[in-house]
Amino acid sequence: MLTHSQPIKNTLLLASSPNGIQLHLKRIDLIHPTISGNKYYKLKKNLIEARTQSFHTLLTFGGAYSNHIAAVAAAGLEHGFQTIGIIRGEELADKILENPTLRLAQAQGMQLHFVSRTDYRRKADHEFIEQLKKRFGEFYLIPEGGTNALAVQGCEEILTEQDKQEFDYICCAVGTGGTIAGMINSSSDQQKILGFPALKGDFLTSEIQQWTTRTNWDLCLNYHFGGYAKTSPELLKFIQDFQNKTNIAIEPIYTGKMLFGIFDLIKRGYFPANSKILAIHTGGLQGKQNRSLSLSK
Ligand SMILES: *Cc1c(COP(=O)(O)O)cnc(C)c1O
Repeated sequence: MLTHSQPIKNTLLLASSPNGIQLHLKRIDLIHPTISGNKYYKLKKNLIEARTQSFHTLLTFGGAYSNHIAAVAAAGLEHGFQTIGIIRGEELADKILENPTLRLAQAQGMQLHFVSRTDYRRKADHEFIEQLKKRFGEFYLIPEGGTNALAVQGCEEILTEQDKQEFDYICCAVGTGGTIAGMINSSSDQQKILGFPALKGDFLTSEIQQWTTRTNWDLCLNYHFGGYAKTSPELLKFIQDFQNKTNIAIEPIYTGKMLFGIFDLIKRGYFPANSKILAIHTGGLQGKQNRSLSLSK
């Protein structure tokens, strides 16, 4: 199953300014060439489970730019599963070639099945899943965004023992909340885990509470920039500056917003003096170029 040879080293981004705060970046975006970042950890135990249960096919759901769709397609190819992606939006069926995520997913063997937004909303309904089984045969179901109990368990492996000792704050972008839930579960009591939702709304608190009983975490709700995949000139400039300074690529959907938020909170004096902060680079760079093109229209 998924293996990687070297532990991920943390990169120092900011040292001792102001008042002794240190910010480090954990580059889990580098963990695998095609299954990027947190999606690697979320899929890992699901692939083992699918194999144990003798499934040959993985089926999952996503939008046209979904990092999760890209990751499932790549993982299926690498580990010998057929993959089926149920994609939101019938109109995309004849635009596969224009969309790098869908094009690459298909090139990696994923069978794409486009559904209307109305049908897509039924993605967790028993009846809809049964219809999909009639059509595609038996499959191992991975929910939209990849969050389930095994995904959360996989994300418990993101923080190393040293990370748990060394850092006061762990920061992470939040989509469905599975990744942060795993890190919350594996964190040490004296740490605080801060989530930066990429979506508007406060429903994520209860989503995360489904997966953890710990309370050493909080969500910073002010850095969604208007909602999922929404940006602003200020955010895009921040990302450009960050990339120029560090030579580390980030994207505007998740990690860009989180890092903007962390630097803003540092400026506002949110973190006590001498805090050691670890930010997680969750990856998501596939399809970046296409996204920024479509966003700038
Ligand atoms: C999917 C994704 C997230 C969100 O992960 P969740 O477990 O859904 O909260 C964060 N960052 C990147 C780059 C992602 O692709």
